[in-house]
Amino acid sequence: MPVYHYPDTLGEACSIMAAGEDAMVYGGGTAVQILLKQGVLFASDLVDIGAVPGLGELTRTKDGLRAGPLVTLRQMETSPLVRELAPLAAEVYGRVANPRVRNTASVGGNLAHGDYRLDPPTALMVLDARVELTSARGKRSVPAREFFVDFQQTALEPGEIITAVEIPRQPEDAGAHFAKLSSLAVNDWPAASAAALVVPASRGRRQLRLGLGALAHVPVFTQFELAGDTPVGEVVATAKEVARPLIDPLPDVRGGSAYKTRLGLVAVEEAVRGSWKERDDERRIPFLGRRRRR
Ligand SMILES: Cc1cc2nc3c(=O)[nH]c(=O)nc-3n(C[C@H](O)[C@H](O)[C@H](O)COP(=O)(O)OP(=O)(O)OC[C@H]3O[C@@H](n4cnc5c(N)ncnc54)[C@H](O)[C@@H]3O)c2cc1C
Repeated sequence: MPVYHYPDTLGEACSIMAAGEDAMVYGGGTAVQILLKQGVLFASDLVDIGAVPGLGELTRTKDGLRAGPLVTLRQMETSPLVRELAPLAAEVYGRVANPRVRNTASVGGNLAHGDYRLDPPTALMVLDARVELTSARGKRSVPAREFFVDFQQTALEPGEIITAVEIPRQPEDAGAHFAKLSSLAVNDWPAASAAALVVPASRGRRQLRLGLGALAHVPVFTQFELAGDTPVGEVVATAKEVARPLIDPLPDVRGGSAYKTRLGLVAVEEAVRGSWKERDDERRIPFLGRRRRR
């Protein structure tokens, strides 16, 4: 059985993490508890960071927002700050599992869990979020897009603790959509998921960013640019063409590889259609507004 620690400061937590032969952080415990019960968690020490000041805070920053690792997924879903500054993130955190899990699971634990099916990384990657890591050796910051390095393996080095996730403000004129397709139950893990964010680029072009979940052995990110007035049907076709070579799903109880590949392309289409507003649509909005006022 691992030895439990309850440090009062971040420095103390880092020292315990450095000294332990195979020390792990205890966040919300939703994954750790299951692994302990299954007898497959091989940790020398479990470091509960719940008493360390500041790790459960959500704050506005110059460029967006900063979430401490102990902010719960439910807080990310419901916080007015997250809804204002990163509505796509609020939407995606709100689609994880069920309220019981979301009320307990933490932002840091979710990322460190490193599962290829996780929902939040899809949004964090398209929003260009960064993960702050702290250890006895110091601090560093890793882009969410580079955090997932291999199957169940993240950029976390031994002794490191996730101490924040920094999310830049979602541009107000960005189009955003998250598609999650589950094959067993509506609040189950996804069989395929896709987050899309469309942001203005130079010379009237638009950039489409895609984050895919459950469709390869790690969460996947890609992006491309198109003329801003490209019809949505063409954007969908391009997105599928770009995404297809990156899709290589692992077969499991939620479906075989071919089935998940098809679902993945459906998720991509849904995310693109929900995020790419045709310029015609934009022109129609003020026109409808004028008619309504008469
Ligand atoms: C029934 C069920 C359904 C689920 N469905 C989904 C789903 O649909 N979509 C989805 O995305 N997820 C799903 N999950 C996974 C869930 O999101 C994770 O279990 C949860 O986010 C882990 O967070 P936690 O705080 O409980 O982590 P913990 O269980 O405390 O820790 C998980 C891992 O992260 C490490 N860790 C924790 N905090 C830190 C930190 N600050 N720094 C470094 N390492 C840390 C731990 O050492 C451990 O390795 C589901 C889980 C359950 C139980």
